[in-house]
Amino acid sequence: MVLVVLFFCVISSSLDADDPVLPYRFTVVIDPGHGGIDPGAIGIGGIQEKGITLAIAHMIYIKAFEYPELRIILSRQRDEYVDPSNRVLAANKIAADLYISIHANAYTSSSISGIETLIHETNGMESPSYELAEMLQKKMVAKTGARDRGVKFAPLFIRRAQMPAVLVEAGFLTNQEEARLLRNLSYQSKIADAILEALLQFLHK
Ligand SMILES: [Zn+2]
Repeated sequence: MVLVVLFFCVISSSLDADDPVLPYRFTVVIDPGHGGIDPGAIGIGGIQEKGITLAIAHMIYIKAFEYPELRIILSRQRDEYVDPSNRVLAANKIAADLYISIHANAYTSSSISGIETLIHETNGMESPSYELAEMLQKKMVAKTGARDRGVKFAPLFIRRAQMPAVLVEAGFLTNQEEARLLRNLSYQSKIADAILEALLQFLHK
């Protein structure tokens, strides 16, 4: 009980009126695609999309500590299944400023490679989601040197997001070189840096 009282005193003393007012913090939901029973795409050597997306998301989360104006929320923090629609509804509930879903691609032909960013098909080219997608796409391609597959429109689960929402496809797990790169920590770090730079660019524009 004594400890509880002391703890309360410490907390309350930190709320003095003289304390500087904290700046507005942008809430950004980073959504590592798939998880748990849903492995996502399975690529060369059995590499699973769900592990790659979580690794990149964790890097963004850690790197974002450098930016006090950011509050990063992960839609999942471990290898667990969370229904995609519920991830978006949770972002709506906390009135997040941005929603960025991270994925990796797969295709029947191993020769296909590159990075692309998708937005829901009903968004126009004037929409904030499109603008965010372009920033993300440019930064990711510039940082990695990957083939630029551009910004694309598709029917996506993020359609119910009440904030700018995009889905990045960080590379093809069915391409030998990109499968190797995507499991490499320094390559994952480049993608995380690019995503962080792009979302900051969008939020501060
Ligand atoms: Zn996916």
